[in-house]
Amino acid sequence: MVELNPFTIAQEQLDAAAEKLGLDPATHELLRWPQKELIVTFPVQMDDGRIKIFHGYRVQYNTARGPAKGGIRWHPLETIDTVRALAAWMTWKSAVVDIPLGGGKGGVTCNPKEMSDSEKQRLARGYIRSIAGMLSVSKDVPAPDVYTTPQIMAWMMDEYETLVGEHHPGMITGKPIPLGGSEGRVDATARGGIYVTREAAKELNINLQGKTVAVQGFGNAGQNAALLGHEILGLKLVAASDSKGGIYNGTGFDPQKVVEYKKRTGSLQGFPESEAISNEELLELDVTLLIPAALENVIRDSNAGRVRCRICCELANGPTTPEADDILQQNNVFVLPDFLANAGGVTVSYFEQVQNTYNFYWPLAEVHQRLDEKITRAFHGVYQMYLKEKVNMRQAAYLVSVARVAEACKLRGWV
Ligand code: NAD
Repeated sequence: MVELNPFTIAQEQLDAAAEKLGLDPATHELLRWPQKELIVTFPVQMDDGRIKIFHGYRVQYNTARGPAKGGIRWHPLETIDTVRALAAWMTWKSAVVDIPLGGGKGGVTCNPKEMSDSEKQRLARGYIRSIAGMLSVSKDVPAPDVYTTPQIMAWMMDEYETLVGEHHPGMITGKPIPLGGSEGRVDATARGGIYVTREAAKELNINLQGKTVAVQGFGNAGQNAALLGHEILGLKLVAASDSKGGIYNGTGFDPQKVVEYKKRTGSLQGFPESEAISNEELLELDVTLLIPAALENVIRDSNAGRVRCRICCELANGPTTPEADDILQQNNVFVLPDFLANAGGVTVSYFEQVQNTYNFYWPLAEVHQRLDEKITRAFHGVYQMYLKEKVNMRQAAYLVSVARVAEACKLRGWV
């Protein structure tokens, strides 16, 4: 299988939007590249006394609309280009939901599955010491992403506050609630995706009650999407998968039981009354809603023709390649593009920062209502663009976001 570079894909997607918007060459070139990036190499003591050397990254893609904002991913295959792509998508994401933030991303190449909690804590602290100069409430604010958790955010915040000698809870989001986290942050990414799916179904005249959903990637985003898809939209979960493979039952699973099983056993394999399926087979199921919630480039030109869902809600970042996008469009699959569909996470991260600044915290119902308003407005802005420009939903989302970021660059006198 040809390995696809996510940053090249992010640049290609931008190029198409820049052409359609008629961006001047300087603005286009500025938006093709990160404004600032840092690659760090740092030591961590492992439990057996060995010192292991890790490589980490932090990329500030664009800060014209506000401080950089974006998660930290810990993954064995993490590279500077993955982080660049994710930082670009964060820029478009903050802009599409119209929050006063730019885009950034961070990562460490590591395998957290093979690390103890104390090793993870030392890694978290070592990474923050290495990149602390780039961070602050008004410069760049990280958050969780793949294989990083609220506990890891707490260690990172503590390390940063120890370095600067002051409390700064807003320097990182996705924290545990007792340390200044927001109610509703944990399921915000999935909740935003479910709200956006609800709006799309209304526009497409699809009643989702009792219809089928398959979820690829059963972590934070995927598990909550399965639960909320059932609770809010009445969807029937027929398939789910994680890095070890998937499970299927055409009559539907109780999503709560699947989540509990995954939490208890660490895997989906062997879930009662399920048939084993592969991650590839899951993507090709005949379902109403497909939710890719794992990693990049899973829907490619080689399998896109076999994707049979009616709506694809991309909770993962970058799950669909540009060639696959064209095939899905031809086959009448309505794609809710990643940086719109998964923008609930950054939206509630922004709410978390607002609450940290005020030092005054909102009840859960208020977070849900504000998230619903913000993401519903974002969906309809993109949908209107889709109707007006006769492009696909991803291109429509790019047109909305890139125009906003380009305007901010221009107003600042950068271009
Ligand atoms: P997570 O670490 O909680 O879960 C990741 C899940 O994906 C795990 O269940 C893992 O087993 C599974 N997985 C890993 N490799 C896989 C593979 N090859 N095939 C199938 N499953 C695989 O991470 P998360 O926070 O749920 O993030 C998932 C996706 O959502 C990522 O693309 C992330 O960038 C995106 N996202 C997350 C947030 C957030 O707030 N957590 C926000 C926006 C976007």
